Amino acid sequence: MSSFSVCTLASGSSGNAIYAQSEDGALIIDAGISGAALIRAIELMGGHIDRVDGLILTHSHSDHSQSAGVIARRHGIPLFMTEGSFCGCKQKIGRSVSPRIFRPGMVLAIGGFHIHTIRTPHDCREPVALILERNGKRCGLLTDLGHPFKELCELMPTLDAVVLESNYDHQMLVDGHYPPNLKKRILSDNGHISNTEAASLIECGLQGKLKAAILSHLSEQNNLPEIAYAKSSEVIKNSGKKDFILHIAPRHTPSPMIVI
Ligand SMILES: [Zn+2]
Ligand SMILES: [Zn+2]
Repeated sequence: MSSFSVCTLASGSSGNAIYAQSEDGALIIDAGISGAALIRAIELMGGHIDRVDGLILTHSHSDHSQSAGVIARRHGIPLFMTEGSFCGCKQKIGRSVSPRIFRPGMVLAIGGFHIHTIRTPHDCREPVALILERNGKRCGLLTDLGHPFKELCELMPTLDAVVLESNYDHQMLVDGHYPPNLKKRILSDNGHISNTEAASLIECGLQGKLKAAILSHLSEQNNLPEIAYAKSSEVIKNSGKKDFILHIAPRHTPSPMIVI
């Protein structure tokens, strides 16, 4: 019996959102696309906005928070975020929505899921990554990570599945047209993680339970889906693990659902 399913609804700097559902409930994680696009994408995946139990924001950057206020207000969905995230997007959320504030490290219980919240070294106030857990199955939602910090490597083998940032190809970024200060930001310990770093995190996971991954938040300028896919599939192949499911999250449409 499956425990729950997860997919990305949109992915990349043009907007991020993730959807998770089980027999008992459904969650949205991040709302970085328009409310209408978010609702359409959920319906495309067989869900409905009225059955969503909570919307959790990982951090305040607008590619994750754009329609959070609208969705919460129009559909009466409880909105969860850290104090730091709230400070970062208060105006966008609007005064009529009062988010439920959590501290990084707290475990939330929403819609039949336990949601572990992990502080990340990304460049905004109090960003988090999440692990969804239900009936002993765990799926990491790990984007905007800054760098592969120690706790990340340790938790990878405990996951059954992961939505994992694979933001840039190092050479494409270095050779590309981004201004030097933006390149520096992406490469810094508080920016994003590369295809190579994502592949080595998957390698850590392969030593444990990990058997499915959706590579996400790919840069439009500094990456290609084929390169991200090739980097991670190489470590999967080398591990000898059979039947590993690997997807690339499309930018504007939902990814396949992974059943955990
Ligand atoms: Zn982002
Ligand atoms: Zn971000």
